[in-house]
Amino acid sequence: MVLKDIYRKAFDLTPLTFDEGLSLYTRAPLEELMFVANRVRQAHNTGKTVGWMIDRNVNITNICFSQCSFCNFCRKKGSTEGYVTSTEEYKQKIDELFSLGGDQLLLQGGMNPELGLDFYTDLFRNLKNMYPSLKLHSLGPPEIVYLAKKEKLSYAGVLSKLVEAGLDSLPGAGAEILSDRVRKIVSPAKATTGEWLGVMEEAHRLNLPTSATMMYGHVETPGERIEHLVLLRDLQDKKPFGHYGFITFIPWPFQDMGTELLLKQGIRSSYTANGYIRMIAISRIMLNNIQHLQASILTVGKETGMLSLHAGADDLGSVMIEENVVSAAGSSNRFNAAEMQEIIKEAGFAPLRRDQKYEPY
Ligand code: SF4
Repeated sequence: MVLKDIYRKAFDLTPLTFDEGLSLYTRAPLEELMFVANRVRQAHNTGKTVGWMIDRNVNITNICFSQCSFCNFCRKKGSTEGYVTSTEEYKQKIDELFSLGGDQLLLQGGMNPELGLDFYTDLFRNLKNMYPSLKLHSLGPPEIVYLAKKEKLSYAGVLSKLVEAGLDSLPGAGAEILSDRVRKIVSPAKATTGEWLGVMEEAHRLNLPTSATMMYGHVETPGERIEHLVLLRDLQDKKPFGHYGFITFIPWPFQDMGTELLLKQGIRSSYTANGYIRMIAISRIMLNNIQHLQASILTVGKETGMLSLHAGADDLGSVMIEENVVSAAGSSNRFNAAEMQEIIKEAGFAPLRRDQKYEPY
């Protein structure tokens, strides 16, 4: 396969085949990949604007039956370190969020076997009653699959009840790598590839804004990364016309510190800064129907985050007032609102604060 022919297809925003994507990803010189991705970025998001936002990640509970081998955050039922966040704690965290200028909570798992759908709908209603302007970007496909099984409801049934109770958008959490071979190794108790995609298909049908993610750099092959991108692109193609679908894609590398994958199986994160830039660039090129691409500055840090903006990314995500999952596995990057804007300017772009729907705030 001639690389220049594939570049030409990418410039025209023609969907690349799996083989073409893999060929670019594994063979193209980094500077050429960045050049092509930048051109594609300009086709989707013209100009120099780079998005950022303020939100707060609160974990509803750290008790989770899934026990994924890359997760250093979850605790087993009955653990003395287990918790379920109380109303008082939410109030204190939300008051702080509002005082820092944010209005969105990223509410996430684990999958606590004692919590059913009523718990989540009561929680969302309660939070919205106390803070009517609060936005809830919450849960993810694995929780929806779990609740659907527990309550014997369809995915659409669970999602509709959550939306009625106050869910504003669904994060693409728990995608890891959309390959059942990989999932059997790193998260065997969690949603399968088909289940994850099935929930997102329903969310798109209901016009619930969603994001897509990838957590890479553990046991997957380069081909499985490309297949993940193809699956997301194919699903996005199916979304009803005019619906949100996947608004953005966010890849981040596996953080290995203290994880079972490292300690018991000796699997280290294969992350390198160069590798991340390649991943950003190939994502921008392959996902020709997802408008935004977010670099995970929280996991890769300032310099690599800045470089990502020259490889196709048009967003640096949230200043994230609180984050407990990747930080439990070694990620230590934190930026306040002023620093985030400075980083974007230093990289040669214009910061634009946005909301979860990627509209100017
Ligand atoms: S990654 Fe999520 S689903 Fe997996 S064990 Fe941790 S909290 Fe549970």
